[in-house]
Amino acid sequence: MPLFLSGIGVSRGIVIGRVHRMAGADLDIPEYGIEPAEVEQEIERYNAALNGTRSRLRSVRERIPASVQADIASFIDTHLLMLDDHAITEAVVDLIRERQCNAEWALRLQRDNLTAVFEEMDDAYLRSRRDDVEHVVASILRVLLKQERVLETHSREQSSDGDSEPMVLVADNVTPADIILLQQQGVAAFITEFGGPLSHTAILAKSLGLASIVGMHHARRYFRDGELVVVDGEAGHAIASPDQSALEYYQHCQQRDERYRRMLGRLRDTPAVSTDGAKITLLGNVELPGDAIQLSESGAEGIGLFRTEFLYMNREQMPDEDEQFEAYSAVLKASPGPVTIRTLDLGADKQVDGGRTDQASNNPALGLRAIRLCLREQDMFRVQLRALLRASAVGDVRIMLPMISNLQELRQARQLIDQTRAELKREGQQVADEVPVGAMIEVPAAALAAPMLARHADFFSIGTNDLIQYTLAIDRVDDEVNYLYDPLHPAVLRLIRMTIEAGIQAGIPVAMCGEMASDRRYTRLLLGLGLTEFSMHPASILEVKQIILNSDIGALNDIAGKALNAVSATELHEFLSQLEQNSSPAAAD
Ligand code: PEP
Ligand code: MG
Repeated sequence: MPLFLSGIGVSRGIVIGRVHRMAGADLDIPEYGIEPAEVEQEIERYNAALNGTRSRLRSVRERIPASVQADIASFIDTHLLMLDDHAITEAVVDLIRERQCNAEWALRLQRDNLTAVFEEMDDAYLRSRRDDVEHVVASILRVLLKQERVLETHSREQSSDGDSEPMVLVADNVTPADIILLQQQGVAAFITEFGGPLSHTAILAKSLGLASIVGMHHARRYFRDGELVVVDGEAGHAIASPDQSALEYYQHCQQRDERYRRMLGRLRDTPAVSTDGAKITLLGNVELPGDAIQLSESGAEGIGLFRTEFLYMNREQMPDEDEQFEAYSAVLKASPGPVTIRTLDLGADKQVDGGRTDQASNNPALGLRAIRLCLREQDMFRVQLRALLRASAVGDVRIMLPMISNLQELRQARQLIDQTRAELKREGQQVADEVPVGAMIEVPAAALAAPMLARHADFFSIGTNDLIQYTLAIDRVDDEVNYLYDPLHPAVLRLIRMTIEAGIQAGIPVAMCGEMASDRRYTRLLLGLGLTEFSMHPASILEVKQIILNSDIGALNDIAGKALNAVSATELHEFLSQLEQNSSPAAAD
């Protein structure tokens, strides 16, 4: 009997393969007391386990395929850095001493302390870094308990008649390091019970092209080892023991996807020009300096969003000016075109000062975050501005200010930038003559006041992730209200349109760097609303380009204009399907 199961699809692709269940990472952690005389020996045992974990990770790092080196190595490096962090080294040793308990238990106590801090964070990305803590702790525990994680007894050859079929791993959770090793053992897809779409594991899966589903609760209970399974990594669906008609359907989808990918690959160097001759700019979003290296493969013309807050993560001390300058310079050198660097988008509840945070606000998404925090903590902001302006001598930098909600913030930030530039020049430092300064439009007030802001900004970039959150009053990280998160809500579409119009009136470019820009379902609508610059995860660029190449923007303008005035969801969807028909659909065969 086929069994249909759902989770969160995090990485596209359809895989038909055999189930391999992995032993749980939920290790049974022993707790026992030790004699005072045994404490030093227990600490030695812990330190030896740390060394063992480091060696394992380094060997994983050496086995990373060259094609994806920079991206993936940075994930492993994050875990290696965590292994040297005080919170994992001295803090656990202190617990062994204070509690006179075994190393495993001390590590477990420390893990619980750390994960509790991450749980309270408001930002989805930072909160998902809790997974990194758990992965690192689990790796150390496995070394301490001598329980290395391996695929269970059955091997690929033993899986009934399917010895040449891809392996689909079903596990409670997997670490980025596990993923690299498992891919080398032939795993083509994975399903996990835990984890979120913003975890490093999910990001890696995308980067390695592994179809994957996370958050499929109790998955290991439903799949049998060696059973045939279809994984649809986009929809987040899996079918265990599919019947003949389901199999044929998914085989057909695989062939269609393969043709689609080959066709996309040929578009890499084709300019993104619509059928009626409009040139659209396609840019990449970058989180880590290493990501920039991947960009040239993706057809990106530059970087539309470099989220600098990731430079500040997993560390005690803030990065100093030189370190930031080096990071920005490296991104500029690796980028195929201009780089829009966003100034710090951290909040009051997050570690922004090496551990000395203010008390968390009751409503952190509405609190002291992003530009508000930078204007409050000007000494910290100046360090970043100095590094950014110095980097402007290395390449084409644009400075982007997050969460602007009024003109005063924009003016004040610009004033600080001007002062910093003058200061650098007095010191004899090289700074470009022109460094465009733009505002993110991600607060409804900014979209409504866009005509005023446009007179003081060199560009706009629409951050739909926050714009939707704030417009619809939905916490973007709260699963309970996720169903209300609707990019097609008329209020959201109108704010997008108002922003684009204000940009056109003022003669400044308007980009979009929120997730909506990477979703091919909205490409034609956005083109119709007048958007000419899209910035997104590099993996999505070619398919968005393919849609642009097949779009007549003149015709889209009319339909999108009508969609804005749709009086019901049904009418809106009617216009959206007209947009799709405007030219040949991208993925159809
Ligand atoms: C956004 O809000 O759309 C955006 C791009 O910024 P972030 O997702 O980093 O908040
Ligand atoms: Mg944002």
